[in-house]
Amino acid sequence: MTSRSAGPEILRLIDLLAKLPGLGPRSARRAALHLLKKPDQLLNPLAAALADAAEKVVACQVCGNFDTVNPCSVCAAPGRDASIICAVEEVADLWAMERSGVFRGRYHVVGGTLSALDGVGPDQLNISTLVARAGAGDVREIILALNATVDGQTTAHYITDRLAHLPVKVTRLAHGVPVGGELDHLDDGTIAAAMASRR
Ligand SMILES: [Zn+2]
Repeated sequence: MTSRSAGPEILRLIDLLAKLPGLGPRSARRAALHLLKKPDQLLNPLAAALADAAEKVVACQVCGNFDTVNPCSVCAAPGRDASIICAVEEVADLWAMERSGVFRGRYHVVGGTLSALDGVGPDQLNISTLVARAGAGDVREIILALNATVDGQTTAHYITDRLAHLPVKVTRLAHGVPVGGELDHLDDGTIAAAMASRR
């Protein structure tokens, strides 16, 4: 599609859709046309859902999860064990853990991994806030559920060092997480096994 075959509104829609993960320009054009063909079933409800999310969804000031309340519903849930914090790379990993239902503590979203190649240092990640939470009193264990990638494990080492002066146990997910695997792609049983065999 060129600027002669579509108006600027449509081109803008396609450009924005093409920025979504997994969508290139070609699939973005298909998605845009699909939306435009179904205004009542798709385009208008999607526009409303996007506006709603933009207005109401915030990052939790405690753990970094996305929710419409702050602190998020996981942090605020009274039945959860506040003495165990599971550190994950992304919100998607937190949601994967929650889907598996094996963890009843709290979370901390680190927001990525350290990467010399991509210029990501500790200050770009939510590591200082994790150290602060770990030292705040009633926390007794930090589970590092970072991905089994080189950057994920480098980040886990770094966080372990930062926590070394605190009286908290630092554990890692052991078996079950494949090298290069991301929590979000694991089935519930694998997450449960990895959680049970943490060390
Ligand atoms: Zn939270």
